[in-house]
Amino acid sequence: MDFGFNLQPSSAVNLDKVDLDIYRRLLSTDPDAATCMACGSCSATCTASEWSGMSVRRVLNDLQRGKVNDARKMLSACMLCGKCTMVCPRGINTRHIILTLCRILDDKEGRL
Ligand code: SF4
Ligand code: SF4
Repeated sequence: MDFGFNLQPSSAVNLDKVDLDIYRRLLSTDPDAATCMACGSCSATCTASEWSGMSVRRVLNDLQRGKVNDARKMLSACMLCGKCTMVCPRGINTRHIILTLCRILDDKEGRL
């Protein structure tokens, strides 16, 4: 029977099977990343978010769920303007986190 809609595949994440290697490496260098409370201030002020969907909040969220490719795509749009760092209520150095993540990902791909 055609109901006019289809069921979407589940987006549930099995946290027991997620590879947290990138996120753990980030925390070893930038432990303040763990204090993010996902308020979204960084996303709301991001210079690149309107055309790229860039969001530090989403990058951290994706890494915690093992979605490294989604995070990588967003990172490539960052212009390192630093606005997200200025508005973070937790005082997280988001710009430094972005730089650290780019270095970790480049290292993982053997570009360094
Ligand atoms: S502004 Fe800071 S605390 Fe809020 S979501 Fe962004 S990184 Fe997390
Ligand atoms: S540094 Fe990057 S993530 Fe932060 S506001 Fe600027 S473009 Fe957005």
